[in-house]
Amino acid sequence: MTSARQLHKFGGSSLANPECYKRVANILKEYSSPADLVVVSAAGSTTNRLIEWISALEKDGRIAHEILQELRQFQIKLIDELLPEEKAQPLLELINQEFMALGEINFPVTEVMRASILGHGEVWSSRLLAALLSYLDMEAVQLDSRDFLRAERGAQPEVDRGRSLPLLKEKLAQHGKLRVVITGFMARNDAGETVLLGRNGSDYSATVIGALAEASRVTIWSDVAGVYSADPRKVTDACLLPLLRLDEASELARLAAPVLHSRTLQPVAQSAMDLSLRCSYQPESGSTRIERVLASGRGAKIITSLDEVLLIQIHFGAGHDFTRLESDLMRSLTRAQLQPLAMQSQPDQGLVSLAYTAEIAASAMTYLQDTAVGAEIKLREGYSMVAAVGAGVTINPNHCYGFYQKLKNAPVEFISEADSGLSLVAILRKTNVAELVVDVHSQLFQAQKRVAIALCGKGNIGSSWLELFAEQKAELEKRRGMSFDLVAVVDSQTYWLDLNGIDPTQAITRFEDESVVNDGQAWLHTLAHQTDYHEVVVMDVTASAELASQYEAIAEHGMHLICANKVAGSASTQDYQRVVNAFDKTGRHWLYNATVGAGLPVNYAIRDLRNSGDQITAVSGIFSGTLSWLFQQFDGSVPFTDLVDLAWQQGLTEPDPRSDLDGSDVMRKLVIVARESGLEIEPESVKVESLVPDELKDLSTDDFFDKGKVLNELLSERLAKAQKQGKVLRYIARLSRDGKATVGVEALSPDHALANLLPCDNVFAIESKWYKDNPLVIKGPGAGRSVTAGALQSDLNRLSNLI
Ligand code: ADP
Ligand code: ASP
Ligand code: MG
Repeated sequence: MTSARQLHKFGGSSLANPECYKRVANILKEYSSPADLVVVSAAGSTTNRLIEWISALEKDGRIAHEILQELRQFQIKLIDELLPEEKAQPLLELINQEFMALGEINFPVTEVMRASILGHGEVWSSRLLAALLSYLDMEAVQLDSRDFLRAERGAQPEVDRGRSLPLLKEKLAQHGKLRVVITGFMARNDAGETVLLGRNGSDYSATVIGALAEASRVTIWSDVAGVYSADPRKVTDACLLPLLRLDEASELARLAAPVLHSRTLQPVAQSAMDLSLRCSYQPESGSTRIERVLASGRGAKIITSLDEVLLIQIHFGAGHDFTRLESDLMRSLTRAQLQPLAMQSQPDQGLVSLAYTAEIAASAMTYLQDTAVGAEIKLREGYSMVAAVGAGVTINPNHCYGFYQKLKNAPVEFISEADSGLSLVAILRKTNVAELVVDVHSQLFQAQKRVAIALCGKGNIGSSWLELFAEQKAELEKRRGMSFDLVAVVDSQTYWLDLNGIDPTQAITRFEDESVVNDGQAWLHTLAHQTDYHEVVVMDVTASAELASQYEAIAEHGMHLICANKVAGSASTQDYQRVVNAFDKTGRHWLYNATVGAGLPVNYAIRDLRNSGDQITAVSGIFSGTLSWLFQQFDGSVPFTDLVDLAWQQGLTEPDPRSDLDGSDVMRKLVIVARESGLEIEPESVKVESLVPDELKDLSTDDFFDKGKVLNELLSERLAKAQKQGKVLRYIARLSRDGKATVGVEALSPDHALANLLPCDNVFAIESKWYKDNPLVIKGPGAGRSVTAGALQSDLNRLSNLI
């Protein structure tokens, strides 16, 4: 025996008609050498026809006769069309004798007879292929596997390799350098009876004979190019798996996928032989190679199913040591090689349910009846199976979630995880399995959308969002079935970009080492031309006018934008509209929930009212957390600038508190709210009362505090006047439908809706057609790291709904 010898196995699908036989001959001409071995199944659906014939014998002799005649015609036609008359003659004589002998068989047909009848299919195809090859100058002989393969009967017989090896050696020695065409599917026992290896058993014949003959490679040729992510006849977008781990292939076979008989991988695991699957219709259309190196498993690779599954339910009854009985049962099933497809254990009911294929169930039932003493055993029909197979599937959260999610409304009896972690198996009451397979397949394998995020601004809010994102990422990905990767962190001078993804927990600490000079927005250019991600989101948490000037470009490059930056939203109508149009035109999204009221859902509420048919007539409120805090504290006992100093020290103001005090920030928010309410507004048209007197405008921050007296005097006077009327001062923004917009200090009675707040709270009172007499009030913390970071995350979540 030479190690260069190969074995080619052709299944029924590769021998379905004369054309197929010719294709097989061509494949052997091209891909095989003279001493190679060939294993064949029965041509087309010959085995199925023989099975139908046997069952018809019992019921209706006339139909049985018809089936047999049809099969005879099919076999004769193959011979006639493939061989010239003189070569065909001896084969026709043999086959006529065989059909005559079959025709004399009457009911009842014993198990032994049945095996030998079913074996005819393989005998016919091996004889014909050997003759065809010889005729085509590839000298070949037929060999009956029963002459050397030894196995005992059983539900899933295993070939006795020790006893088969010398017999095979002897046979092969007789044939020297001829191609040997061997029958698949069959072995023989000591009593000289035919032992069938089970449906699709020729796959196993091929690997076991290959291992015995020390073949370097076994190729299983069928009508598909290899193992696909699902049965390609059921799932049109199933994809071919060029490599499949040995243990994954074994699991697929164990679950009775027709593409591989359940024992096929056993001889491969126990030898150094290679195994490939290829398509005999298009040999170069790709293949699946079974790999031994255990590349780390990342989840499901194949969705497989069985239309017909039976459940054996074993009821141990109360008062027994259930755990012991169950483990004894499983041990004995393993010994008898009757491991179920899946099992469910219900100790509280003393019940074990075992799922089997229709082929095995009867044997398993008989075995259990003989062994499980005292237990009540029931065989239940009418089940099916759907399974996801692949190393790591049971620990891949997306795949587990997707699998359960898609089966949520199906009549699931139970779902079990293989101990090996190689499969998730659902047993269902009979249902439309094909549809479920399509659903589960698309849920698990549809190219997962990859979203890249570039964070601009890594200050207070930016770093807070990074913490939140790190915490929420896995959950968001699971919920949305997409991946979200932070790929860039940008500040005013430098940026760090890595398309492989940046760990959000290290984005700040490693930024200095990793970042490069931000020269002319190079990061934006790189992101615009990347191809690794389906979507890119720019997150602007700066106050930069320069970055705001890039918004149009961001849209034109096909990116989305989430911002807390108010510059563009409150720009002149012309500039603002240009940005809106750019996003409209490219179908990208611009979300800016965080620009107003931090996390308070103000923009959402206004937008939703309008989309529902309401009309906003007025909006008023306190839009600045800083000014809210200052005026809540300001009762005259402490000068106003001392309070500003205190707020400044507590980080409640902008670095230069005058940005808060001059009302420009509130004005920007008012413009954004106005636009959200459907009003056209120019920022210049807002009447803003600045709390920064002209003479304090251009001073340094320190000097501003030193010279704050002017401001104190001004406000003390206002306060005194208000207090005289029993009122308090508040910094209020107002907008009405006629376009009047003001921002400034007002005196309100202390129980006014806009006065009665907690320090730092924002309040928005929305008046509309529906909320006319009593406005809709949204109130709560309107500034702060975590609520603003939350607003950004909320936009990201919303965006993931839109893309
Ligand atoms: P053969 O007759 O050559 O032994 P089979 O019909 O037994 O071929 O097996 C091949 C068939 O297996 C394919 O036609 C396909 O419909 C089915 N099949 C089921 N699941 C898969 C899968 N995951 N990948 C490829 N084929 C599969
Ligand atoms: N001919 C047998 C069957 O149809 C064996 C095989 O195809 O592998 O199951
Ligand atoms: Mg098969």
